[in-house]
Amino acid sequence: MNKTTFHRAIAALGCALLACVCWVAAGLVSDRMVQQELATSMHVERQMAASIVDNTAQIIASDLAMSRAIPATIAEMDMIQLALVQPHGSAADAALSVAERRARWLASPALQKVDNFLHNARGFTGLDYVWVVDTQGFCVASSNSTDSNSFVGIDMRARGYIQKALLGAFTETYGVGRSNGDPGIFIATPIYRDGLLVGAVIAKVSIDRLRHWVSRPGTFVTDSNGVVVMANESRLENRVLPNSPVLKMSRAERLDAYRRVDFQTLRITNVGERVRADAPWLSPTLSSGLFSANNGVAPALYDERTGLNSGLAAHIVHPLPNWAEIVRNQRRDQLLVFLTALGVVGLAVVITVSYLRERRLHRATRHLANQLQSANTLLSAEARHDALTGALSRRYFLDTLRREVDIAGAAGTPLSVAIADLDYFKQVNDRFGHATGDRALEHFVRMCEEQLRASDGVGRLGGEEFGLLLPQTSLADAHAVLERLRKRFNQEHCAHLPDDTALSVSIGITALSEGDTAENLLKRADLALYAAKSGGRDRSEVHPADNIPPMPRHPETA
Ligand code: GH3
Ligand code: MG
Ligand code: MG
Repeated sequence: MNKTTFHRAIAALGCALLACVCWVAAGLVSDRMVQQELATSMHVERQMAASIVDNTAQIIASDLAMSRAIPATIAEMDMIQLALVQPHGSAADAALSVAERRARWLASPALQKVDNFLHNARGFTGLDYVWVVDTQGFCVASSNSTDSNSFVGIDMRARGYIQKALLGAFTETYGVGRSNGDPGIFIATPIYRDGLLVGAVIAKVSIDRLRHWVSRPGTFVTDSNGVVVMANESRLENRVLPNSPVLKMSRAERLDAYRRVDFQTLRITNVGERVRADAPWLSPTLSSGLFSANNGVAPALYDERTGLNSGLAAHIVHPLPNWAEIVRNQRRDQLLVFLTALGVVGLAVVITVSYLRERRLHRATRHLANQLQSANTLLSAEARHDALTGALSRRYFLDTLRREVDIAGAAGTPLSVAIADLDYFKQVNDRFGHATGDRALEHFVRMCEEQLRASDGVGRLGGEEFGLLLPQTSLADAHAVLERLRKRFNQEHCAHLPDDTALSVSIGITALSEGDTAENLLKRADLALYAAKSGGRDRSEVHPADNIPPMPRHPETA
């Protein structure tokens, strides 16, 4: 595997790892989002369920309060009480048949009045039946006295609510009518006359009249035995809640109260665990609040209001309306968050890589610029100085000369210029070698630097010929200084040269005059040098400004 392939494989692995991390992170974020959505939804729906079940409980209480008022009012009526205290021989005639008792009591004028009253009362109170029993528990008058199913004459002692009323208790009981099998609420009130219990009045409201209690979906009502007496969903009716008292009642008791003995159970179970299979993101806190009635599919909220004074209880199983949507949203959110995270991470990687590349490039460029600057500095130093002797280069010497000519011309100060040429230098080379010649050239420049001022300039014009620039120096002073230089060069031996090296130099000197140019100065110095060479060498000659004879050019300085 070559290096590029290896790098590509590492990059691909990195991308895959990053995508995995993004996917996991997106899962966590979307789980949190959907939990929040569900928590909000459950909060709202729970409030709604509570308000529905509260409302149901209130309606039950107010309806029953109204129904309760009717028998209570009837029990207070003189006509009823008087009819009951009149002897009509029920106890004595307990052995008579129902029909015989009925015939006897229907014939009693006092009871007839009660029958009529109860018949009319039933009509305008909206009750199903109203009837009166004597202290023995026989129905002596009823709103249906003349009907074929008339209660008059029936022995009602066995009914629990009548027994309780004849013991002085106000009762409200759900039950199924024995004569017509019609379920309803029985409200029994004791009747007193002069402090003595003389009978009881019973009103029955059929369940059909109370159906509006469970008009909202999911609502149902149970009685004090845990039996569902009415439900919005009719299939739930006559079921019982688990562990209901009815399950402990005897067969006869069940038959007596409900006209049936078998009850199916209505299970309100927590479906948190089951739902988590579909929605693993569901937190235990939220899932503990999810129920279903008899294994219904959609998770629902459950609420109940027990302890109503009628013994009834209101319940609601309220399905979460947007459950399916929330589950869908979780999947969608995870994908969206994943794509967003991938985009952001991708962008961050691109930006980081670009930044690092840019920085590397910048560093390389800076390094290159530094190198270039050093090279330039070196080049510029090389351009200014002669590599062998360290004297100024020819070009730089001429530039300096022109500048000094301008300064001296403007300031009116003296300026002297000379050209020095080593004598018979070719012979030095020939005799001692080129390297010795080089040392001699260096020696001459060192000596010039020693003998001249720091403000003076020494430039190598070519080969063994040097230009000497002496600012603020008159021709006479320059002559004196250069004469001293010439003599010392001839006399002082250089340690780097062979002992028998004889060196001498010829110098042509001139000075700046008004309106003079650098070129004129050099020309005159050259002429003076020619004179020195012609004059026998190892000497210096002066060429004043106003005395330029047309002399032939010395071959060296041409
Ligand atoms: P003159 O007295 O007439 O000036 O005679 P000369 O021999 O000095 O003059 P010529 O022009 O005949 O020779 C100059 C010699 O200087 C020739 C050349 O080889 C030598 N030369 C020029 N530049 C260098 C250099 O850089 N190093 C060395 N060693 N010799 C150089
Ligand atoms: Mg020479
Ligand atoms: Mg020469």
